[in-house]
Amino acid sequence: MNFHILTLFPEMVMNGLNTSIVGRAINNQLLTVEAINIRDFAENKHNRVDDYTYGGGAGMLMQAGPVYGAYQSVVEKTGKTPRVIYLSPQGQTFSQSMAEEFAKEEELVFLCGHYEGIDERVLEEIVTDYVSIGDYVLTGGELPAMVMIDAISRLIPGVLHNDTSAEFESFQDNLLEYPQYTRPEEWHGKKVPEILMSGHHANVEKWRREQSVIRTAQRRPDLLEKAVLTEKEKELAKKYLPTE
Ligand code: SAM
Repeated sequence: MNFHILTLFPEMVMNGLNTSIVGRAINNQLLTVEAINIRDFAENKHNRVDDYTYGGGAGMLMQAGPVYGAYQSVVEKTGKTPRVIYLSPQGQTFSQSMAEEFAKEEELVFLCGHYEGIDERVLEEIVTDYVSIGDYVLTGGELPAMVMIDAISRLIPGVLHNDTSAEFESFQDNLLEYPQYTRPEEWHGKKVPEILMSGHHANVEKWRREQSVIRTAQRRPDLLEKAVLTEKEKELAKKYLPTE
């Protein structure tokens, strides 16, 4: 997987992504991350890439030309016309299933806006996906791009040490993950649930599934609508739904 980030702040994304698990994946050549500085494609001698908005209003807007130039440089380099994700509060809210879908791509371009955003005309020409990371407004698309790249990267085979595709994680089957414990066996007077130390695999799995159902009912009842539950699990969930 090759990630290309079109940004005015290349050092921000590169510093953030070159660490921890994603950084290790880059070192191990499981993925590449490249930041393309939109300012390098400025069309004036002052290197300006923003201007006032037509029709008035506060704030500046990123111009179409430099953004298009940065995008074209990726097309020329890769010889492909990759999916272009514009990080925008107006996009579809990012989710685990979207991460799974994007993880299948070979090349992904992330376009990070700044100021009041980007001239609509270039968005119409190059953007294939509008994605938001939540219903709030940030100063730029860099943090959202990093969030998405982090979530997508960990789905690429080899990035995590264990084979997570076989493991249960939150949002799989529209359920949240069960509670987990590590040593010591007792901490602040609280003991690890006995069943987890029984060594009885089937019972542990049963307990975990129940805990997932309970936790989802308590914390994210909205997810349960799409979860496939047995009649018994539906009854269990009902007991834990928050009361208004
Ligand atoms: N004027 C825009 C609007 O109201 O839709 C908001 C512009 S915002 C201040 C600047 C940039 O930050 C956007 O172009 C976008 O790239 C990024 N951004 C802000 N909030 C975001 C969010 N929730 N998800 C993804 N990107 C976001």
